[in-house]
Formats: sequence, structure tokens, C-alpha cells
Amino acid sequence: MENKPLEIALYGKGGIGKSTICANLSAALAEGGSRVLQIGCDPKHDSTRLLMGGEDLPTVLDYLRDTPAERQELSAVLGTGCRGIGCIEAGGPQPGVGCAGRGIISAFEFLAKNHSKENYDIVLYDVLGDVVCGGFAVPIRREYAQAIFLVTSGEFMALYAANNILRGIRNYDGDRHRRVAGIIFNRRNIAGETERVERFARAVGLPICAEVPRSDVFARSEERKCTVLDLPEEVPEKQIFRRLAEEISSGLTLREALPLTDGELERCVLEGTPPERAAAPSPARPADEEPSRPKTDRAPRPAPDAKRPPLYGCAFNGAATAAIHLTDAVVIAHSPRSCAFYTWQNISSPGRKNLFNRGILMPSAISPNFVSTEMDRHDAVFGGMDKLRGRVAEAVARKPGAVVVVSSCVSGIIGDDVLTVEELSTPETPVIVIPADGDVNGDYMKGIEMCLHTVAERLVDPRTPPRSRSVNLIGEAGVSNNIDVNYRIIRDLLQDMGIAVNCRFLGDATAEEVRRLTAAPLNILSHDSPDNRKLRRWLEERYGCRFLPECLPVGFRATRDFLEKLGDFFDCREVLLPMLRREEAAFLREAKELNAVLRGKRVAMTTINANVDWLLDAAEAAGVEFVWIGVLNYLRQELRVTDDPRRLALVEEISDWPAAAEKIAALKPDIVVSNYTSAMPEGDYITDSLSMTQLAGFRSGLDVLERWAKLLENRREGEWSRDRALFEKYYA
Ligand code: SF4
Repeated sequence: MENKPLEIALYGKGGIGKSTICANLSAALAEGGSRVLQIGCDPKHDSTRLLMGGEDLPTVLDYLRDTPAERQELSAVLGTGCRGIGCIEAGGPQPGVGCAGRGIISAFEFLAKNHSKENYDIVLYDVLGDVVCGGFAVPIRREYAQAIFLVTSGEFMALYAANNILRGIRNYDGDRHRRVAGIIFNRRNIAGETERVERFARAVGLPICAEVPRSDVFARSEERKCTVLDLPEEVPEKQIFRRLAEEISSGLTLREALPLTDGELERCVLEGTPPERAAAPSPARPADEEPSRPKTDRAPRPAPDAKRPPLYGCAFNGAATAAIHLTDAVVIAHSPRSCAFYTWQNISSPGRKNLFNRGILMPSAISPNFVSTEMDRHDAVFGGMDKLRGRVAEAVARKPGAVVVVSSCVSGIIGDDVLTVEELSTPETPVIVIPADGDVNGDYMKGIEMCLHTVAERLVDPRTPPRSRSVNLIGEAGVSNNIDVNYRIIRDLLQDMGIAVNCRFLGDATAEEVRRLTAAPLNILSHDSPDNRKLRRWLEERYGCRFLPECLPVGFRATRDFLEKLGDFFDCREVLLPMLRREEAAFLREAKELNAVLRGKRVAMTTINANVDWLLDAAEAAGVEFVWIGVLNYLRQELRVTDDPRRLALVEEISDWPAAAEKIAALKPDIVVSNYTSAMPEGDYITDSLSMTQLAGFRSGLDVLERWAKLLENRREGEWSRDRALFEKYYA
């Protein structure tokens, strides 16, 4: 059975002398007969030097970095110091790169996997006490330290660090556990030092377990590369460590962590005013007495029935999804492979869905120019910049229109300096970095905004000569099956008027097309949304872009009005008139054909508060009767469902789906249509749902009616029954 040693952590501010104290304490414990293991948890990795006769040990992290996993062994990092003391240095990454806290975690995982503590009675952790992150706090966890000493001098910053450690312990333990053994006072001989430390000790309810004087003895021991216990001469300092070792061996009294607030600490240490609760804490306090609680930033746990907001993707996800629309760019996700995978799923889902609709179940070739640096544990500790630089250099060598780098949580949290890879830009290939940092810098929509702004700032060249008969399409980026279809519809209509699409910002566009964004005299927003309105304002303010008030039109009427406005702007009404006549004739002809199947059919609709005149116009032309329109008006805005006063009588606000279902059952319609997902109750009608982004152009309404006609015909001929088997196989 595994031996369970007593594990003790010594925490103290960097440079306070805790390594010297820890090594001397190890020596005293070993002198008393204990088998001791000392683990240095400071990136400085000099905790065990006095025990090892001045020898430097290879650190666990260097070893893990340089040795393949299958060849890693504990013996390579475990040294044997004086008195048989086991010595290990966790180590850390190079200063300024990677994550030292994550390094401690990795080192501890390695030591646990290799049963490093099995042969010891006592394990001492020598830990940097500036508890800057969860990684440095690992030894505080209850699975490690059973007892904790705070090493401090009387300097304010040392006491501040000691108080912070108490906060860290309190965060882990609450008031349920007692693990603080006391204070080891390492004198610096500053004025009023004893009083300061004593006041602090009283205020936090801890004993001063040892006082270590400022003494030349320590300098002598360092010169001889040994502990004070190993000096040949008998000095009083030896007794200090022996007494402490004895106290540990005979059983420590442990106390609750009761940190001070910053204000209390300042008043207590600097002004000599103890906090009011100073007398209250005591190790013998009854369990039912409410202890004073430190302030924490933790939000209270939400009640189980609390309404939660919907889930959003992260800024990394949004930025990468938008960046992929730069068709001649390579997009590099500086991320673990899994983050890139989920984003790939997001990017490719409309394409995969379309293929699925055509019966292709497992598409293998949807592969945008999207690669990942595949960050792993190693990068999380030592930093991922080498990998990123390599990937960017490879991509730049292929001379794409641009290389776009999007950073994830991992690179953001460990502080990879991602912006520096912009230096690898060449005249042909700018390197554009979007420091989304996963969800650290925001959610999915924020990521899209970051991408659009950064790409524009790096690429748009306002000196580009104007292209007089051209427009830009703005704000297509997003996830919708209709983006490309709508683009083609609008592009063809514009072409008929002799107007070119200058740039799709950012629907599929090359870097060169984005560069010439300001060349087009007019911009058209793809759809109306708060984010698109924000983008519009930004482009107006930054580049003086001019916008048509209308977005891409849906339905006959809106498309006609839209084209007329464009005709006015570009002064080409004359080409428009025959075109409109042609489209109107085609619209009426098709509506008449549909009338043969749909005449007299009654439709009930549930909708969010969005204009549906485009559908009502087409229905009217085809002889279809809308009998009811139930509006779920979640935002309690003015109803926008129709601009036609004749149709207002059809519109009713509904509170929820069951209310709508009741109404529909009473109306007995032939067709039920909805533009939000809902489970329709069984009934003798066909059902249809409308996509959130409608088909643009003259035929939007006809397209829906055509579908209804097919559904009604299929039902009659029994074809739907055959499709049902397919549906149930793949969807049900
Ligand atoms: S939130 Fe962070 S970890 Fe999750 S997918 Fe985004 S970048 Fe990756």
C-alpha cells in the first residue's frame, strides 16, 4: 500500500528566504530521523541547492520538455541530498513565455504518476508565495498540503503576500478545514518589525512558530553550499530549526485561514490598528459559530430554476468563422486542435447541411483554408509562439492573399505575444492577427466584429481609384444557408443594370477586393440586425462609406423598390423599366400556375415580429388565403408584420406556442407555416418553416408557395409517405 507522508507547504513572497528556511527545516527533520522529500516549486529552481551541495538538479519541466513521454522516469529528476533528503525542482518556462502556473500543474501530475512520495515520511513544498494564479496555488490544494506555514518578514509586501496566501487557502477550504500551522518570521531587521508581525499574527489568529534572525550564519552556510545544520560549529540557529522540526514531528495544531481585507491589513500593519475581529478567531471556536468571511469575487450559485441566457460561441469562433470568407487567405487558429475542429464544424455546417439535403451523408471535402497550430500541454507551459511562427512562415511561403491568425483561450491565457507574427508579413502577403483569445475578449458576435474591423484596418486602401458603377455588399458573414444564393440573385439583378459588386465585406472576397472597399460609391447592408447597424456606423465614420437605406430586398415589392432606388442613384432608370416589366409578367405567370393547386387554400402562420408582406403578396396573387397570423412579440416592440392596413385584422399577438396551437386547431387551416422552430401538433394540414434569412429578390414568396404546392401534391400522390421512411431514418 502506498505510504502517505505528511505534506507541508511553505509559502512566502519571492526573495523572502523561504528556500533557505525550507532546506534547513528539511535537514532538521531528517536529523530527527524522518525520511524527507523537498520539492521546490519556484521557477528559479534553487530550492534544494543547499541540500545538494550546490549542485543544480535538472528541473521536472525541462525534463518533460526534452524527453519523450515513454522514456520519462522519476530517477532523472530526483536527487539525493545531505542526510538522504530527496530533492526535486519543478522548474518553469523561460521568463516571459508560457505559463509557469500550468508548469507547476504538469510537474505535479508527473510526480503523482510516478509515485514520487512513496518512500518518504514528510514532503516539504517550497512555494513561491506570490499566488498569482491557480497553478501556483496547486500545493495549497487539500490533495497535497495537509499543513501550511507562511514565511514572512515585517515588510509590508511580505505580509501582504502572506495575507494573500490565507485568501487562497480560504478560497479552497472555506470554514470547513483547518490547515494553517502558523508563521515563520524571517527577520530583516527593519524598524518596528516584531510589532508588525505580531500584530498581523494576532489579527489572523496564527502563532509565530519560529523566529529566524538575520545572521551571518546563513551567508556562511551558503558559501559552504550546505545547510546551517551541516555547519561544523554549533550555532543557536540550528536550535531554531530543530525546535520547529520537533513541533512538526510531535503533531501540529492547525488553524483556519482568516485573511484580512486590504484595508484591515494596511491599518493593522502600517497604522498599528488591529481589526475589530482580532480577538474572535481561535482554533477552539465552536463549529456552529459563523466565522467572518473574506470578500470573494465568486458569484452566488444560481438557483436551479434560474433563467439562463442562451449559449453563444466564443470570439475565437466568431472571428475564425468570419475570416474564412477571405477566400484567398490562409486562416490559422492558434489553438488546440479541438477548438479548430468545433469552429470548422460551425463554418462547414451550412455546406454539410446542403449536401445532406442532396443525399450526401458524410462529406469529406469541405475543407476551407483553415489550419490549427494544434497547441498542446507542452505549449501551454512553454508558450506556443515557436509553433505559431513556424505555421505562419509556412503559410506566407505559399503566397496567399493574406494570412489571418486568430488566437484562442489557451494562447490568450498564457500570454503568447501573437501580434509579433505580423512582422512576418511580405509585400504580397500581409499577416493579420486577431487577438480574440477565445472567449477572453468576448463572444461570437464580438469575434466577428473584431475580425471585420481588423481585416479592414489592415487591408482597405482608401487611395484606390473609384469604380463608379459598383456597390459593396456589407455584413453577410454569419451562418445561413442563403448567403451565397442571395448573393447570386442580387449580383444577377445588378448585372442587368450594369452595376458590379465591388466587394463583399465579408462574404466571399479576396484580399484585393477588400483593399478596394472604398472604391464603390454605394454600400448595401445584407440584412438588418443590431450588429450590422453597428458595422454600418463604423464604416460610415471610418471610411466615409455611403449606404442605401434599404437592405437586400425580400419579395417582389421590396425588390422593385430597391432596384428603383439603385436606378435613381446610378441614374439608369431606363434599363430598369423593361426589366421590371419582364419580372412582373414572370411573377404573375407563375402565381397563376400555382393558383391551380393552391387556390382557396387557407394558411395559418406563427411568426416572430418580422415583416411578412413578401409572402402575403405572393399568396394573394396565387389565390391563397391567410386566415390568421400569430405574432410572438418577445421584445414587445411595435408590430412590424405588415405595412398593409387591410391585413392588420389577421394579426394577433400570442403569448406562447400552446395558445397558438389551440387557435390553429380551431381554424382548421390547410397549411401551417412558422418562422421559428416549434413542434406542430398533429392535424390535417401540411406544415412548413421559413428560414431566418429569407431568399432575396422577386421570387422569395413564390419560392415558398411552390414548396407548398409540391407538399400538397405529394400528400395527394402518397410520395410523402415514401419520403417519410428516409426522414425517419436520418432525422427522427
Ligand atoms: S472558448 Fe476557448 S477553449 Fe472553447 S472553443 Fe473557444 S477558444 Fe477554444
